[in-house]
Amino acid sequence: MTTATLNAIRADITTLAVDAIVNAANSSLLGGGGVDGAIHRAAGPDLLHECRLLAGCKTGDAKFTRGYRLPAGHIIHTVGPVWRGGEAGEPAQLASCYRRCLGVADAQGFASIAFPSISTGIYGYPIENAATVAVATVREELATGSSVTEVTFACFSEADLAVYQAVLGA
Ligand code: ADP
Repeated sequence: MTTATLNAIRADITTLAVDAIVNAANSSLLGGGGVDGAIHRAAGPDLLHECRLLAGCKTGDAKFTRGYRLPAGHIIHTVGPVWRGGEAGEPAQLASCYRRCLGVADAQGFASIAFPSISTGIYGYPIENAATVAVATVREELATGSSVTEVTFACFSEADLAVYQAVLGA
């Protein structure tokens, strides 16, 4: 049984004052477009210095850094799968992102975490499928016990928010 709350809101994730925000990064961890670029811009150049020490990240894995100029204390960087039609292990890799991020958060004792919609931008994962994996995996993971009590899905568009709200309410 989980006592955590799961919420979807429309927000720029870089503005959220939570213990950790999640970055949908690429495997180099050296910055990119989309939410990754926004996080690096908002956190400032010291983030890139710390990221260089991490030696990249595999698809489905997660590594954390400090949050620097962000209101969030930390950033958990994860690498989502590129959508290749859905038969190339993408759902398992996406689920792994959510599990590993929550694993890192729990190991650090974080209570609040915010996720962007991993893989659904440049990486092309269909939003309905991705939101279903995101919500189901977070629920499963928190049911096993965690320091995390508050999960926010930060949706960048009104359309994405509607999808998450439908999945959360289902
Ligand atoms: P990926 O490469 O994993 O697909 P993207 O950054 O291209 O990552 O997109 C992931 C999601 O993040 C998309 O839904 C995109 O609209 C959203 N996004 C982009 N900028 C922000 C932001 N500042 N805050 C929250 N979500 C964002």
